[in-house]
Parts: sequence; structure tokens; C-alpha cells
Amino acid sequence: MRAIRVSRLGGPEVLTIADIDDPQPGADEALVRLEAIGVNFIDVYFRMGLYKKPLPFTPGSEAAGTVVAIGENVRDIRVGDRVASTGFAGAYADLATARADQLVVLPEGITAREGAAAMLQGMTAHYLATSTHALQPGDRCLIHAAAGGVGLLLAQIARARGAFVIGTVSTDAKAALAREAGCHEVVLYTRQDFVAEVRRITGGAGVDVVYDSVGATTFNGSLDCLRPRGLLALFGQSSGPVPPFDPGILNPKGSLYLTRPTLAHYVATPDELRRRAGDVLGWIRDGSLRLRIDRDVPLADAREAHRALQARETTGKVLLVPN
Ligand code: NDP
Repeated sequence: MRAIRVSRLGGPEVLTIADIDDPQPGADEALVRLEAIGVNFIDVYFRMGLYKKPLPFTPGSEAAGTVVAIGENVRDIRVGDRVASTGFAGAYADLATARADQLVVLPEGITAREGAAAMLQGMTAHYLATSTHALQPGDRCLIHAAAGGVGLLLAQIARARGAFVIGTVSTDAKAALAREAGCHEVVLYTRQDFVAEVRRITGGAGVDVVYDSVGATTFNGSLDCLRPRGLLALFGQSSGPVPPFDPGILNPKGSLYLTRPTLAHYVATPDELRRRAGDVLGWIRDGSLRLRIDRDVPLADAREAHRALQARETTGKVLLVPN
């Protein structure tokens, strides 16, 4: 099969296409022929070496397709099932294995493209808005990079839960998308002081929760946007990791809470995974959650997908397509 391989760490250029042996499913695994593959920032972090994996490796964990083989212990998944997962071992490929309990069977009416686009960013938006801080009607939230993959979905879910939603983005075109997704107010954090804007918009009160995926460039300002006892959910680092910081700062800024959540801990059991995926895919099917697929990139051009994501050129999901 064809697969994208990383043999040395570095920029997008280290992603090369190769012919390698087909993977075989282990006893608890399924082998899936992939139709659409999700590109995520975490793939960039592994490519750069910010997160570690032994070399060489095939990047990617999110995809959707059709099961072509199962291991001897697998009971709930059958050959021919249409499935999606965030748990593939090396998803930038024609075929990949995943533990069967990490697979979600796609409901009728959801395509493989939608499945691959919805799983990681959709379930992340879901856990942030319903569990990390379970938004209530009237809560105020700030979402950084609101026109991004997670951002567009999180803005819609936050709005649907009755929250007052402020988004930050870098351009006017992205501002329009963030408004369409449900942001009541949008701040261009590349031109405006987002802390001053959030203070102005909230009449000085601050927001209940900041969902911060940008990291290095926004972290300090995010703390200053919170009401006393507010929560900063730092869930990403698109601008770079946050440098070490003194937790004592949380006291004078208002007895603040800080969490650094990750999806794996919010889909820790098969039941929780199926519940979150079921909600997200159900909302997409009934039209209450709109997916924005920014572009489909041929698998062989994975480096172009990484370049565009890192260059802030994308709004919504970037997919790789094997054929
Ligand atoms: P996005 O589509 O949001 O892309 C990143 C966006 O971040 C850009 O479009 C850009 O929006 C903004 N950004 C701000 N500064 C920079 C910079 N210096 N370089 C690049 N981008 C910048 O990506 P995703 O939605 O896929 O992921 C967002 C973040 O969330 C990532 O860090 C990812 O790792 C993390 N994440 C975490 C999860 C978790 O469970 N913890 C799960 C899923 C994602 P703009 O131009 O508007 O500033």
C-alpha cells in the first residue's frame, strides 16, 4: 500500500510517499481501507518532534473508510462496516489498523468524508463545551481561532447551548465565517487588543471560560479576559507552546482555574467515545451542526496540507484523499 512516511523530523518536506507492506490487524483490531483522512495539528507536532514517536513512522490518527479484515477477538465490528476513528495507527495511508473499540460505525447519511472531518475536531468541541466547562445559557465564553477547525464547531455548539460567544480571528474573511458559526462578537486579535475588547464587550465583567488553542501568543491575555474564578481551558498551541509559568499568578488575577485537557481523557471508555461521536454525527445528520471542509488534498501531497495548516490558510477541516 501507499503511505506517507516520516524518516527524519522537520518541516512539511519530510513527508514523503512510499510503498510499504499492508498492515495486518492484531487480535483486537480491524483493518480499514481509508476513503478520507483527517489532518490535525497533532500530526504537525509529531512531524516536528514536539511530541515523540520512534522513527520512521506513518503520521495521522483520524480517518474513515470500510473495514476489510478483523482480528480473532473482534465481535462488534464486521467486514464491510463503514467506520471512523481518531485512533488509527498511521492514518496517512491507503490502509490502517485501529483497535475495534476505538471505531465508530458511521450512521446512514454520513459520508466517509464527513466522518473523517467530524471525529477529532467535533468530539474536541463537544467535550470542551459540555464537560470541561459545561456551558449554561447566559454563560460568556471566548474562543480563540474561531474560524479554525475546532473553532467553527465549538462556536456552533456554544451558541446552541445558549452561551454568549466571543471569537478571535486573524482576518476579515475569517471574521465572517466565525459570525456565521454563531459568534455574537468577533475580535481581530492581529489588529485589536483582544483583552481590552473582551473587557469592553462584557462591560468589564470578563468571560466565564476561555477556550484557547493558540497558546504562546494568547495565554497571558486569556487569563486577563476571565471573571474571578473563571476557567482557562488551554487545549492547543498553534502559535507555539506556553513557556513555564508561575501558578501564583492565578491568585491576583481572580482565583482562576487552568486546565490543559486532551481528547483521549474525554473519550476514555468505549461508552464515552460512542456517546460523544453519536452526538456529533447526529447533529451533523440533522443539520444542527455544520461541517466546513476547507479542502481535499491528494494523499501524495500531504506536505502541502501541512504547509497550508501551519500558514493559517485553512478554515475548517483539511482532508487527505487516498485516490
Ligand atoms: P485550526 O484550524 O484552528 O488552525 C490553527 C489556527 O490557529 C490558525 O488557522 C490560526 O487562526 C490560529 N493561529 C494563531 N496563531 C497561529 C500561528 N502562529 N501559527 C498557526 N496558526 C495560528 O486547527 P485545529 O482546529 O485543528 O486545532 C487547533 C489547536 O487545537 C491545535 O493546537 C491542536 O493541536 C489543538 N487541538 C487540541 C485537542 C485537544 O484535545 N487538546 C484536539 C484537537 C485540536 P487565525 O488565523 O484566525 O489566527
